[in-house]
Amino acid sequence: MGRKPTPAPVRFWSKVDKNGPNGCWVWIAGKTPAGYGDFRHDPKKNSSVAHRYSWEQIKGPIPKGLQLDHRVCRNKACVNPDHMVVCTGVENWLQPDGCAGINKAKTHCPKGHPYSGDNLFVYGSGPRKGKRLCLTCNYECYERRVASGAHAARVRRWKEKNGKSKNVSVSGGERPPATPVHVSPSPIGGS
Ligand SMILES: [Zn+2]
Ligand SMILES: [Zn+2]
Repeated sequence: MGRKPTPAPVRFWSKVDKNGPNGCWVWIAGKTPAGYGDFRHDPKKNSSVAHRYSWEQIKGPIPKGLQLDHRVCRNKACVNPDHMVVCTGVENWLQPDGCAGINKAKTHCPKGHPYSGDNLFVYGSGPRKGKRLCLTCNYECYERRVASGAHAARVRRWKEKNGKSKNVSVSGGERPPATPVHVSPSPIGGS
């Protein structure tokens, strides 16, 4: 028979146990660091997740840029396409056990200050509307940046960039600008 490689679909289904709990089709081979089934089927790509491959085999191509969410069983190792829905990353993130859902349930910042009253600042727009910032931590961050000189460096950069065209002259007694807001651009973490 020689050394003909086993076709990818044959290899794929040999690594699936369709008798998993709750109707899950459990991936019984290697997993990615994130816990998804790891299935290499395209030599040009070094890795691909098994549940996406499973979906494509049974339901067809996944529209570009969209993700599969294990919304039914929450089992990342499951490759049963009936347990998944196609969604955008943001929708995935907004699920109750996504970052935003977890954050919404928090009543205090990681350092224990309350997300309420004068200590709470709500910001964001679009799907990320309603992100919360602890003003105590924010101010502490500002003071740390002042102490380390990072803030002065930032002010200097700002002046270099904006000072020339507007010809702003700042003489003596520099007032600190509004408290800076440091927000991670990633949806993970934050409020
Ligand atoms: Zn499942
Ligand atoms: Zn805080």
